[in-house]
Amino acid sequence: MNSMKPQLNVDLHCHSTVSDGVFAPDVLARRAHANGVDVWALTDHDEVGGIALARQTAQELGMQFLTGVEISVTWANKTVHIVGINFDETNADLLAGLQRTRSGRQQRAEEIAAGLAKVGIPNCYEGALKYVGNPDLISRSHFARYLVEIGIRPDVSSVFKSYLADGLPGFVPHRWASLSDAVAWITGAGGVAIIAHPGRYDLSPLAFDALFTEFKSLGGTGIEVVTGSHTPDQYEEYARVALQYGFAASRGSDFHAPDDHSPDLGQIPPLPKELTPVWSEILNSVSVP
Ligand code: AMP
Ligand code: MN
Ligand code: MN
Ligand code: MN
Repeated sequence: MNSMKPQLNVDLHCHSTVSDGVFAPDVLARRAHANGVDVWALTDHDEVGGIALARQTAQELGMQFLTGVEISVTWANKTVHIVGINFDETNADLLAGLQRTRSGRQQRAEEIAAGLAKVGIPNCYEGALKYVGNPDLISRSHFARYLVEIGIRPDVSSVFKSYLADGLPGFVPHRWASLSDAVAWITGAGGVAIIAHPGRYDLSPLAFDALFTEFKSLGGTGIEVVTGSHTPDQYEEYARVALQYGFAASRGSDFHAPDDHSPDLGQIPPLPKELTPVWSEILNSVSVP
């Protein structure tokens, strides 16, 4: 496929209105295609409800689609995200696990709003709800957009830095899925489990080693190397990690919205050549000889 192209443009990480992105799954599919993406996955947080529309639209455009999800995990009292790719999205254990993972978000959102009210910013729950596309999936991103709207900070990332990151007034500790459950849901549904944006986690070198080792022993096989959440130095750092631990490498924009200073769909560098892409086996197994 696409033999004229030197390298496929593969984007295996982004969000729609089904989680905390601003575009519906079909709009996102058209945007990915217009940006030159050849192989695309929608990876909403803890939710596969956007997949049917994303797949249908991608197929109408002739763009290869892979199922995706980004599962919120608590590991060593920190939040870690695990991306799953190319699984059966009707798998009952996966669906039940995702439902459980989403279930605490409502209560958490009310507590986030209470924390913000305490520092003099009232009515944030109602404000955040205006940005929510899926009532089951209220996230800190929706609060951040509301705080930008009312002029508390100029952009989403400075809202996170001042209000929503760990230890700040709008942060509520939360217990998500376990790492072993998240990997088991993905691999049990036939998919590939990938550690999302490792460069974003505040872990010591020893803790990183423990995370990578445990993930691998659970059956995880990939890490994101080129992602909108990494700096170019981190592309190199996690390329070395992939080689050291024998992980396949993934690439994804983590696109949410056009105005949040992060890359658009498909608009990130290619994977370093020495790495094995997570999609190589998947595409081999589906391509017509
Ligand atoms: P939640 O799952 O409700 O904790 O929200 C997590 C989401 O918040 C992530 O998936 C990102 O979309 C967003 N987020 C987290 N940290 C930041 C940050 N520093 N700047 C911008 N967005 C962030
Ligand atoms: Mn997000
Ligand atoms: Mn993430
Ligand atoms: Mn993401």
